Amino acid sequence: MDIKENIDNILEKIKVAAEKSGRKSEDIILIAVSKTVDWEKAKEAVEAGVNNLGENRVQEITNKYEQFDNLNLNSNVNWHMIGHLQKNKVKYIIDKVNLIHSVENLELANEINKRAAQHNLISNVLIELNIGEEESKFGISDENVIEFVKSLEQFEHIKVLGLMTVAPYAENPEDVRWVFKKMKEIYNNISNINLRNTEMKYLSMGMTNDFEIAIEEGSNIVRIGTAIFGARDYTKKGY
Ligand SMILES: *Cc1c(COP(=O)(O)O)cnc(C)c1O
Repeated sequence: MDIKENIDNILEKIKVAAEKSGRKSEDIILIAVSKTVDWEKAKEAVEAGVNNLGENRVQEITNKYEQFDNLNLNSNVNWHMIGHLQKNKVKYIIDKVNLIHSVENLELANEINKRAAQHNLISNVLIELNIGEEESKFGISDENVIEFVKSLEQFEHIKVLGLMTVAPYAENPEDVRWVFKKMKEIYNNISNINLRNTEMKYLSMGMTNDFEIAIEEGSNIVRIGTAIFGARDYTKKGY
């Protein structure tokens, strides 16, 4: 398992997929998803040139953030909260993360706004959509997204920078291409609405199994764990 080699492989694939959609590899942000992985390995990814780390648990962000802080590494790293975020935990990460990908209800947005105000900052967020309509998944439906993004306009300390989704798992990623197409369509629709605190800039979609298809359909943030760090060990403490 060579993290640097894995990253170089992925960057090459990102380049090919980006070119297929008329873009350059620099237009695509690679997030190394370091959930369940030790901070030393996350550090290796950063040393291999990845400046964006994604976590889906608050505790893992704060733990790794602290380790990185001790080594003065946080100036090189953007932390991304990509998982379901509980309201009562917003306060632990509000001043540490650069982008929260998983805003999907008004109560959460309200809490993020409140905590951001306390730190005198503007919190960058994405709205999480559930396009595959899986019951077990988080995210709002495409019918409700316009109304939802409008309802976020009241928050002075939130900036909406785009959309995020987790596509349903498919053996053949071609089977979920339609999800990415749909996301891009919604993204374009929202771009055409004039909202004080919304600027459609990021489309966060694509994981190990489907990132090339996602990029072909317009993704500019991919979140990749397994292909960088190997299969996750969920039997470890805390999982
Ligand atoms: C775990 C996770 C990923 C990375 O998944 P891989 O298939 O390991 O690349 C991406 N996005 C979210 C929201 C995740 O929870």
